[in-house]
Amino acid sequence: MIPKAPIAALQPKRMPAEPDPAEGPVRRLHLNECPYPPSPKAIAAMQAAAGEVNLYPDPGWTALAQAMAAHLGLAPERLSFCNGSDELIYAAGAMSLEPGDEVVRPEPCFAGYHRPVEVFGAVARPVPVRQDGSLDIDGMLAAVTDRTRLVFATAPMNPTGGASTLEEIAMLARGVPDHALLVLDEAYCEFGRHAGGPDYLAAMEARTGPWFSLRTLSKAYGLAGLRVGYAIGGGDGSVVSALNKMRAIFNLGRIAQAGAVAALADTDYTAMILASNARERDRLARGLAAAGYPPLPSVTNFVMTNIRQPAKPAIEAFRRRGILIAGVLAPGYETWIRISIGRAEDTDAVLDALPEALGP
Ligand SMILES: *Cc1c(COP(=O)(O)O)cnc(C)c1O
Repeated sequence: MIPKAPIAALQPKRMPAEPDPAEGPVRRLHLNECPYPPSPKAIAAMQAAAGEVNLYPDPGWTALAQAMAAHLGLAPERLSFCNGSDELIYAAGAMSLEPGDEVVRPEPCFAGYHRPVEVFGAVARPVPVRQDGSLDIDGMLAAVTDRTRLVFATAPMNPTGGASTLEEIAMLARGVPDHALLVLDEAYCEFGRHAGGPDYLAAMEARTGPWFSLRTLSKAYGLAGLRVGYAIGGGDGSVVSALNKMRAIFNLGRIAQAGAVAALADTDYTAMILASNARERDRLARGLAAAGYPPLPSVTNFVMTNIRQPAKPAIEAFRRRGILIAGVLAPGYETWIRISIGRAEDTDAVLDALPEALGP
């Protein structure tokens, strides 16, 4: 049968509706995008690369891999780049899952984790987060069985925003058996480190079984539209080797490689983004708390809060005021919203809209 049964059974993607610019300014606080444009140096590098796109890109992303390896203090052979880290989530499923295999993941979780489960006919084992939104590591380890081939952990966590401790991630790295691939999703690691959080790689390195850490230039580097993600693989190198064998040869375009190298080098600009984010996250969290909706503790570029009323109409009320925010797609979270951190004027707009959007 073409397509194969699990793929034929998939639901079409729900594309987030793009707002009509004719309706006035729009504050995009629904996808955890960076509210600032890319570094001017990255823009210049991308413009220069545009004049060379008659040529195929470097299939080994040599300059980018070397720059990133130096930045991280790792050998470039430990890295595999991709067209957005979402691709790595899919690749994790492709390398590990047969129909009927089990995938342990947190609940709620990043929406991307559903796709490999569905495409490869696997079975999800969702593990609820704890009351404060943090990963329940004991619960995740207890959900692992002989059929588990893939475990997703998100640290810092999306959509809740909290961090795990280094000890917790070490427990996970040790506790997930060698017959499962452990994927540590670190899409928000730059924000977590800026908030004083641990470097989880140190804990992951102790793992004997297969693992990779997934990171992205979409969030802290302000390059979501460029699509650059990467994996840091551990153990005997077999996971990064598998990622590189599976991937398309020219998977990262010239403009993407040039922009990523330049953005990585502009550390002052990234520092500005991280400082602004921390300041506005603090202001938004205090404003929400003052209005009676204290968010969960967050070290990321978003906050999640319980508005104790159906989220859908509230999200619509914000949208009518030109503010896009997100709901939380998991059973039991129908009254929760997630708001990305914007610039100061975005924080002001959200706090101004609160009384009307949520009622007294
Ligand atoms: C944003 C995000 C990603 C994916 O980012 P890409 O833009 O595909 O690189 C992965 N995981 C989590 C938890 C995210 O929030």
